[in-house]
Amino acid sequence: MNAPITVKRLGEDASKFVAKEKKLFIDGQWVPSANGRTIDVIDPATGMIFDRVPDGASEDIDKAVAAARKAFDDGPWATMTPADRGKLVWRLGDLVEKHADELAQLEALDNGKPVTDARMGDVTFSYELLRYMAGWSTKITGQTIPLSSGAPFHAYTLREPVGVCGQIVPWNFSFMMAVWKVAPALAAGCTIVLKPAEQTPLTALRLAELVEEAGFPAGVFNVVTGLGETAGAALAAHPDVDKVAFTGSTEVGKKILDAAKGNLKKVSLELGGKSPMIVFADADPSVAIPAIGYGIFYNMGQTCTAGTRLYVHKDIAPTILAGLKDFAAKMTIGVGLDPATQIGPLVSQEQFDRVRGYIQAGLDDGATLLCGGGRFGAEGYFLEPTILTETEPHMSVVREEIFGPVLVVATFDDDGFEEIVREANNSIYGLAASVFTRDVSRAHKVAKKLKAGTIGVNTHHVIDPALPFGGFNQSGWGREQGYEAILLYTEVKSVGVAL
Ligand code: NAP
Ligand code: MG
Repeated sequence: MNAPITVKRLGEDASKFVAKEKKLFIDGQWVPSANGRTIDVIDPATGMIFDRVPDGASEDIDKAVAAARKAFDDGPWATMTPADRGKLVWRLGDLVEKHADELAQLEALDNGKPVTDARMGDVTFSYELLRYMAGWSTKITGQTIPLSSGAPFHAYTLREPVGVCGQIVPWNFSFMMAVWKVAPALAAGCTIVLKPAEQTPLTALRLAELVEEAGFPAGVFNVVTGLGETAGAALAAHPDVDKVAFTGSTEVGKKILDAAKGNLKKVSLELGGKSPMIVFADADPSVAIPAIGYGIFYNMGQTCTAGTRLYVHKDIAPTILAGLKDFAAKMTIGVGLDPATQIGPLVSQEQFDRVRGYIQAGLDDGATLLCGGGRFGAEGYFLEPTILTETEPHMSVVREEIFGPVLVVATFDDDGFEEIVREANNSIYGLAASVFTRDVSRAHKVAKKLKAGTIGVNTHHVIDPALPFGGFNQSGWGREQGYEAILLYTEVKSVGVAL
């Protein structure tokens, strides 16, 4: 491990941003929080405080929602043509690309993730998504509907923006999760109050600067940094918010639902996962091993779609497990800001303790440690990539979302697939799943049977701006990406004209 003061590794632009005093972005203005308090921002590679952001709470949320309401109801945004709206969203994509290295560095410092992944993954996906959604601005349409009763009406539907959107995002892909929500909402003509996670607030504030630079009207996009229990809860419950979009844990997702009840605001939820990966005896190990390795260890396993449960046929298990052990051993562990790093620290002490607690629970329950399990280095929240074998369905490591670099493995000897698919589907979650086989027919049959929002065949992580993303079961409500995301941010209105 290298320099303890990782902040020194930032480029000039990111350094300048970190050095700035942080404020909330409300109605096109940079303002302190009403209570004047701040939250410390911690570098997970060292555990040291390197910045502070406003501790926004309900009074700030009220102001931000009022600004978003005004911008939605009567600002220039309300009358802007779809083409002009699309141009602004595209311009925001261009600005994100222009500042991609800086954004990736800020994310790597704040979250701990490998800067190369942040640049090639989070930030690249974000500007591509902004451009993809910009294109939808001019293509949102209703339908002309022939009435089934033959009533003498000319009937049609209008598809209109849903209104003021509260958007609450987690720390694992903080910038990208924000853009996943912001891009379709802006393309659809909504206005936004965004609440980033307390652990990783920086890139949302930098995004607000870019929104300002792109030339969006005041009040269209607002950012309130703060805690979930205060700022987040106030936003989810606010009577003047028309929709709340949340990404985070299933537990907090249920609280969002409760909070949304007051005015029955629309709700979309992207929640946790415990995604299975099934490897049949005919799988190609040279394909399966790296796909499974990245499937679990990408972003230190702090990925909602992470392939966390591996079911491998006993005939191929020795080859796959030896390959995965080798894959894990070769991953470069280090500070996120080092471009060679593949495994950075976990996001916080809390997360580090939680993940280690799960590993210990798995061992106590009788699982076998194939590799990892230990702390790496003397400071920060580094954990070795970990594989537990000989796991059983009842163990907490198999049932619960760990959200860390921990793969749990079980073998099977069924040459069909019904039984193993049933086991793979035996979860409260249903976000992603994958199957590895050279049998095309079996691949399609298994893909059809798996209960998850995204299925990989001979690959695990499958995401694209055009491809719907979301969860079955308790992994969520609604789909982001693609045209589905536009549907999440619009309402349908039926109009009948008496003829
Ligand atoms: P989290 O604790 O649920 O927090 C997510 C966000 O909700 C944060 O901004 C948090 O604020 C806020 N929050 C907390 N309590 C709240 C409340 N009572 N009312 C309103 N907002 C509240 O999740 P996390 O630990 O940050 O992220 C990890 C989770 O996200 C995992 O379960 C993961 O699977 C899930 N995730 C899902 C997807 C997906 O697309 N399905 C993608 C990424 C992550 P604070 O930061 O202040 O707590
Ligand atoms: Mg949290």
